[in-house]
Amino acid sequence: MDLTYPPEAEAFRKEIRTWLEENLPEGWFDEGFTQTPDERKRFNEEWPEKLYKGGWICATWPKEYGGKGLSLMESVVLNEEFARAGAPLRADFFGDTLVGPTILQWGSEEIKKEFLPKILSGQMSWCQGFSEPNAGSDLASLKTKAELDGDEWVINGQKVWTTQAQYADYIFLLARTDPSASKHAGISYLLVPMKQEGIEVRPIIQPDGSGEFNEVFFNNARCPKDNVVGGLNNGWKVAMTTLGFERGTSATTGYRRFERELEVIIEKARKNGRIADPSVRQGLAKAWSKVQIMKVNGWRTLSAEVTGKKDLGVAALGATNKMYWSEYHRETMELALDILGMEGQVLGGSTDDDEPSMPGLARRQAVKDYPVTPLQASFFFSRSETIWGGTAEIQRNIVGERVLGLPKEPKPPEPAKAAS
Ligand SMILES: Cc1cc2nc3c(=O)[nH]c(=O)nc-3n(C[C@H](O)[C@H](O)[C@H](O)COP(=O)(O)OP(=O)(O)OC[C@H]3O[C@@H](n4cnc5c(N)ncnc54)[C@H](O)[C@@H]3O)c2cc1C
Repeated sequence: MDLTYPPEAEAFRKEIRTWLEENLPEGWFDEGFTQTPDERKRFNEEWPEKLYKGGWICATWPKEYGGKGLSLMESVVLNEEFARAGAPLRADFFGDTLVGPTILQWGSEEIKKEFLPKILSGQMSWCQGFSEPNAGSDLASLKTKAELDGDEWVINGQKVWTTQAQYADYIFLLARTDPSASKHAGISYLLVPMKQEGIEVRPIIQPDGSGEFNEVFFNNARCPKDNVVGGLNNGWKVAMTTLGFERGTSATTGYRRFERELEVIIEKARKNGRIADPSVRQGLAKAWSKVQIMKVNGWRTLSAEVTGKKDLGVAALGATNKMYWSEYHRETMELALDILGMEGQVLGGSTDDDEPSMPGLARRQAVKDYPVTPLQASFFFSRSETIWGGTAEIQRNIVGERVLGLPKEPKPPEPAKAAS
């Protein structure tokens, strides 16, 4: 495998490095650099604006829609350099990563012109309204409906697990627009403003006191008739595109957060002596090997993209990626808690008020009265990673049916109709 990048990609790498050095806070690249909560807060407020001015948010988008029109290799290098620096490359996850690219692919010119600039500038935040109480894995069973009333859709129904709904300006949602059509047909993909009377957001409070996802109730909520992405009753296909973006991570950088976190876990094991335990060593070696596999698979995916030589193995890599990293992470965080032993049972973290943070290490905000450490937070969140964006079981079905061509999973029998 030839791992050299073309010279123009390396020139671009230099450009990004220089930009990062000039724009990140002083000392960012120094060993042991941390930020006080105030510094971190200021950084988080100022960074999206800097990214926007640098043109790095959604830089692969065509220039006519505000992107830089980066080539595949350039975008790989961009991701690599930001990951290496531990610098965030996003304004709003749902906007930049999910609905933005979906609009680019499927949206009408009017929709592109209206929404893409606001996503790029970080002016508009989004949430994803797919799941419903009885439609998660079986998403096509969704019941929320939209009916035309003059120039507007009127929406009624309920969504659940809607992350960030309490902050979002807009929701991209799936609604049934033709009740007479079969399950997968008759669904449309709508862009709906969140701040309106017909929408009620109720947070789902988790055991640690946080409430990052919500139930969302639609009671005659409205959006313009033209806010349909990808055509009327074509929402299923459009939604599959969005889910594809949600399941894919940057091929050559996805492994990095795990690599960094594993270093922290190994350091803990060294410090508390658990590294001497052969089963711990074996677990760590297995975790390390899996991170290396992610790294090599990333290169393999990239090579196939660049050369156009895609075989069944590469197709399988794409389909197994989310399942592989999410299961790796759940397993490794269990090992991390084992290594911590009693320390893992104690809430040893602190709230945002006083804890310094290190760039590049994911840190979920600790909630007052339940101050988890970064490793504990990562352990808890890893439990959700095999669920959101399509569960690991559903990913296996996809690999079986779409990659290996196995027979389709038998559907459960229709419930018997009540005797009349
Ligand atoms: C942290 C988090 C954030 C989320 N954010 C959002 C969001 O912003 N927007 C949104 O729309 N949704 C969101 N979700 C919801 C997520 O998409 C669903 O939880 C997921 O699709 C699974 O659906 P479900 O919870 O209804 O589980 P179910 O579909 O009821 O599944 C229950 C169990 O049965 C298994 N199962 C189901 N069908 C099959 C099958 N055919 N074969 C084998 N096993 C099967 C599943 O794998 C799972 O283990 C979020 C979820 C989490 C955990």
